[in-house]
Amino acid sequence: MFTNVLPKTTLELEYPPKDLFEAIEDLKQELNAVILAHYYQEPDIQDIADYLGDSLGLSQQAAATDADVIVFAGVHFMAETAKILNPNKLVLLPDLNAGCSLADSCPPQEFAAFKAAHPDHLVVSYINCSAAIKAMSDIICTSSNSVKIVNQIPKDQPIIFAPDKNLGRYVMEQTGRELVLWEGSCIVHETFSEKKIVELKIQHPEAEFIAHPECEPPLLRHASYIGSTTGLLKYIQQSSTEKFIVATEPGIIHQMQKRAPQKNFIPAPGMDSNCACNECPHMRLNTLEKLYLAMKQKTPEITMPEDIRVAALRPIQRMLELSV
Ligand code: SF4
Repeated sequence: MFTNVLPKTTLELEYPPKDLFEAIEDLKQELNAVILAHYYQEPDIQDIADYLGDSLGLSQQAAATDADVIVFAGVHFMAETAKILNPNKLVLLPDLNAGCSLADSCPPQEFAAFKAAHPDHLVVSYINCSAAIKAMSDIICTSSNSVKIVNQIPKDQPIIFAPDKNLGRYVMEQTGRELVLWEGSCIVHETFSEKKIVELKIQHPEAEFIAHPECEPPLLRHASYIGSTTGLLKYIQQSSTEKFIVATEPGIIHQMQKRAPQKNFIPAPGMDSNCACNECPHMRLNTLEKLYLAMKQKTPEITMPEDIRVAALRPIQRMLELSV
């Protein structure tokens, strides 16, 4: 007999009959799972996470957890880092397509040739890179500890800094060191318009402009504070200013509002005011529904060849040692 009832999607079939938050909490107990989430995730995911942080904090949590399952609400390189640190745990990423334009801007083959052209150089790589790039690096850093780490390297040691050229330039400025930069960048942090920031500062003279060091140097010159997501969060709580223009992925504003509800936060606009190009399209692929399904179905799982994992572990451990 003909029927016009459409077949149910996987999501509809698997969708829990009760509250999604409650269902995720139940799965957390059942799997002995921990949910680690980045500040750029949607507010619902931030609210259900066991630990919310920047790349450094998330790596430290991944290294310390005794959970059997790590559900990583972030992008691929972050979940990979958790797997590198926890080879025997199941690491789940709600959407396997959640990549990173910055990590993609540093393909392993080209980077191997770049490294070979600078044989005396130590390789310091920003954590926003693939496991294959980490495996070719000497020390990993994050935006929280990049300056601290470079400052601990002997002055006469030449350094390659990869893959973010903007963070690299910022580190050069802060340390007074010459670094050989890989020319990578993040599509989100390069989308902010200097002209629009200047206009916003004129419209809101009482506001402070604060920015992430992945932004381009002309934009950073207007900032009264430059820092990692954790640094930005601390700053808005400590500062006596009531209004901030914030140049990083706007997911962070959910936390800013929670931690300083009396203050106002204006997300820095992209070049085109009508687009959502200041939102990371990769981070936003994860949703609460996908997170639930990943836990329910125990997939997609992060895997990698063991030789890459072992080689990538050493520079991450070096970072964790140098960050304490
Ligand atoms: S905001 Fe930029 S660096 Fe961060 S995950 Fe998205 S594309 Fe990568």
